[in-house]
Parts: sequence; structure tokens; C-alpha cells
Amino acid sequence: MDKKNIDWSNIGFGYMQTDKRYVSFFQDGAWDEGVLTEDANVVLNECAGVLQYAQTIFEGLKAYTTENGHIVAFRPDLNAERMESSAKRLEMPVFPRERFVDAVTQVVEANAAYVPPYGSGATLYIRPYMFGFNSVIGVKPADVYQFRIFCTPVGPYFKGGVKPLTIRVSDFDRAAPHGTGNIKAGLNYAMSLHAIVTAHQEGFDENMYLDPGTRTKVEETGGANFLFVTRDGKVVTPKSDSILPSITRRSLLHVAKEYLGLEVEEREVYLEEVKDFAECGLCGTAAVISPVGKIVDHDREICLPSGMTQMGPVTKKLYDTLTGIQMGRIQAPEGWIHVIQ
Ligand SMILES: *Cc1c(COP(=O)(O)O)cnc(C)c1O
Repeated sequence: MDKKNIDWSNIGFGYMQTDKRYVSFFQDGAWDEGVLTEDANVVLNECAGVLQYAQTIFEGLKAYTTENGHIVAFRPDLNAERMESSAKRLEMPVFPRERFVDAVTQVVEANAAYVPPYGSGATLYIRPYMFGFNSVIGVKPADVYQFRIFCTPVGPYFKGGVKPLTIRVSDFDRAAPHGTGNIKAGLNYAMSLHAIVTAHQEGFDENMYLDPGTRTKVEETGGANFLFVTRDGKVVTPKSDSILPSITRRSLLHVAKEYLGLEVEEREVYLEEVKDFAECGLCGTAAVISPVGKIVDHDREICLPSGMTQMGPVTKKLYDTLTGIQMGRIQAPEGWIHVIQ
């Protein structure tokens, strides 16, 4: 397979249209068999459920080339499982898990020329999503749905080196108590846009959201879970019903415990104790972990001892081990690497 002539290390994180995408319709209570298509556009009625009442959910995962030349995807079964819980929460039909993994496989195979080569640091970002397709004017779930998957190559996240982030404690909440914070739905992102635009205007990279009930506990950012390291080397991640269960964070906890022999804790984390941590990172598919150097809570600055120039030592070990597992340099736990080609 000839690769596309792309400057892999300089593509950034944007949408680049590839050759094929997957589409399946849900109608009369059942999914059709699904097809790959070259048509990148979706034509919808003006009153489609997704346009009026935001009935849409999504996933995000990566495919990439391993050291020995295989094209693989990282834990797509967990994306299938998470999309199932998102669908149930928004009264949407479930796209069967085996079919989800099969559709991811088909899309990556059909766009193999866009999978960046090993060592480039770039990856193929895969975006499965589902939305209410037919017209809905009274508030109710749609009864026709489209499930789609497209992919786009994205550049190395830490191009030009690691730069620890400066984040602020947001005065807005991203999730309501007993709301939809724990599902991957477009609606959670629409309401975070104002907070992120103003954060950027004020010179911050991200927002730290607190628990919406008491505003005393750390939840997550707009699109990544927190991971902290204590001064005695324990890995701590916040536990809450309104956090999106990041697959990267869950994988990193396993790596911390089983590969690095570190103690791990998933528990409530109070904003007041953040000043006592040695390291802080944001976990998600795109970056794996981005180190946080500074957290600004209004007139108070919390500077992490790991500083503003590099990843902290434990964050770095976690990052190196998980990316080593993904790239095939380190033996992966059973079932983590889905070989496509
Ligand atoms: C997708 C997402 C994450 C990261 O999840 P991964 O499975 O690790 O990519 C974290 N927080 C939110 C709100 C998200 O939508």
C-alpha cells in the first residue's frame, strides 16, 4: 500500500478528508448492513433530531503503525462499550459492539494510505458517531439514526517538545449532578465552548472543572481526565459520577500498577489538596498525557514542582510505558491491541 504524500510531522490536529467512511442506518427498529462510501457529506432534513435537540454521541480513538509494521487500533472494544452507555442515556439505539469494532477495522483498512508511518509521531484519528436523523419537532427521541465513522490523520501532539499547560479553575460547570457528564455526547461540548474560548482569551490552555454539586472537588477538563502524582509517588485520579470514563486514564492506572509497581488510588480529590501534589497530567486519546505545570484558582496560583519545562518523572514513565505498549515496543496486556493489517 502506497502512503499518501503527506508531511506527517507537520499536519497538526485538523480535519483532512480521507477516501472512505462507514455509514449505517437504523430504521424500523434495526440497523442495515452498513457500507463504506466516498461521500463525506451528510444531507439532513431541516427538522432532524440532531439539529433541533442535539441528539448525538461520539467516540474517538487512534490507529497507527507499530514498530514491526502492523496497523493497529488501541482498545476499540472499550469505545464500543462506552458508546453503548452513551446511546442508552440519550435514548438512542445501540450499535452492536462486534459491529462497531468491525466497522472501525473496515474504515482503517480502506484508508490505510492515510495511516502515518511508525516513528512519525502522527496517528490516524478515528471518529465514530451517531445522531438522530429524521424530523422531530415535539421533544422525543428520533426513530431513524445514522451511525458513521470517518478518520483523519493527525500530527504528533508534542511537536516541538513538551510544554506543560497552564490551566484555570473554571467558574462554569461542564456537567450537572446526575446529568450527562459521564457520556460522550456533543451537548457536553457545546456548553463548554464559552468557557474554553474565554480561557484562551485570558491566556490559559484549559479549564479545570469542579464537581457541580459542591464545587470543592476536581472533576476533569473539557476533554481530558486528571491524573495526579503524590509527593511519595502514588498515582491518584478523581472519582465522580459526572466524569467521562477516559480509556487512556483507565489504561494508565493499569500501567502504573502492573508495569511500574506504583500504588494507585481512584478517589475524590479536593481542590484544597492539589497544592500538595508533585505532578499533574491530563489524559486522553490525543496526547496520552499532557503535563500541567500551573493551576490558577482566581487569585491563587498552584505551581506543580515538576515545573513549566518538562513532564514530571512519574508522568514521563507512564507516558513512555503506555506509548511503548501502543507502538509494540513493550508487551501489551491481553486484548489491548487490535491488529488491523
Ligand atoms: C473523550 C473524553 C476524554 C478522554 O477519553 P479517552 O477515552 O481517554 O480519549 C476525557 N474527558 C472527556 C470529557 C471526553 O469527552
